[in-house]
Amino acid sequence: MVTAGALERLRDGNRRAITSLLANEGPMSRADLARGTGLSRTTISSLVTDLIGSGDIVETADRGRPHKGGSGRPPHLVALSVPRGAVAGVDIGHGHVRVAVADRSGVVLAEEIDTLDVDEHGVAALDRAAGMVRDGLATARVERSDLHAVGMCVPAPLDRRSARIRTGIMPGWRHLSPGDELQRRLDVPTFADNDANLGALAELGRGAARGLTDVLYVKVASGLGAGVVLGGRLHRGATGIAGEIGHVQVGEDGQVCRCGNRGCLETVVSAPRLVALLQPAYDEELTVESVLELDADGDAGRSVGRALADLCNSLNPEAVVLGGSLGTSASLAAGVRAAVDRYAQPDTAAAVRVVAGELGDRAEVLGAVSLAMAKVAP
Ligand SMILES: [Zn+2]
Repeated sequence: MVTAGALERLRDGNRRAITSLLANEGPMSRADLARGTGLSRTTISSLVTDLIGSGDIVETADRGRPHKGGSGRPPHLVALSVPRGAVAGVDIGHGHVRVAVADRSGVVLAEEIDTLDVDEHGVAALDRAAGMVRDGLATARVERSDLHAVGMCVPAPLDRRSARIRTGIMPGWRHLSPGDELQRRLDVPTFADNDANLGALAELGRGAARGLTDVLYVKVASGLGAGVVLGGRLHRGATGIAGEIGHVQVGEDGQVCRCGNRGCLETVVSAPRLVALLQPAYDEELTVESVLELDADGDAGRSVGRALADLCNSLNPEAVVLGGSLGTSASLAAGVRAAVDRYAQPDTAAAVRVVAGELGDRAEVLGAVSLAMAKVAP
């Protein structure tokens, strides 16, 4: 005999099947929910009514495909309801501040970017970031009191325990704790991380690495860094500096790097470095894009790929996602692919796809939004 308790547990399980399908696939019709869960149309219809009643899901204004063979209007879609309030993401680069205000499901409501010399002027950049968050809230018509959390990233490793920037690569930021500083200005819980880590989080959640669990995200821009995702989670390492591949030594007698060592990978392949290397041979002023066209043989990509091949041998990722201003370059991807094939173990190389990120230079700010969302209880 089936007890009432057993029936209720079955209904609970079925409700969870519906909400997790909506969480993973987005809004859909009742018919698609039936197909996706394997439950009958009648069961779905009754459970959806329950879930709308409890406030867990809502009927949207959007309509799906028309009923098969039917002549009526297409059905309304249902979606997970979005909790009230907003989060913000702040991406601090070496030369820009970008801010996004999003609802609690991560849909961006307002976004703005400003250029300024961030490296030398930590306090000014933090003031500007706080002002841009306030402007973003006003644009998005969100009350200050409805902002639940802020995620932010900086283009330098953060000490995991003190959350401070310890390296000297951003002189105006030395020993500053960016998260605490922004929190003091905004009076909202603020969580800081490294830019490549948050770029990885965004590509994992809504970009090129959706559905994957073991991924190396490499940001190739004015600096060079990697975010390491293992088993579906960011791997930050013992003190927060995992993935700092920009300072792998590639030549003992190479150029002095901003970190103080000599011959770091970053001195060979960062965007300003590539422009500086090639500019003397050209009359017209080179940009990052034109430099990559000139680098048709993928030399820059090969240097990055050489360092990544070692990481691939150790970590056996499914994908290398190339992000940052140079990430979409075909020659960079081809160079990385060639070096991974040449230097990684054959099985490791065969297992890994090398792809361009899908989020471009928005990856970091969207990752900051994801970090803030993860810190707010649902
Ligand atoms: Zn270095």
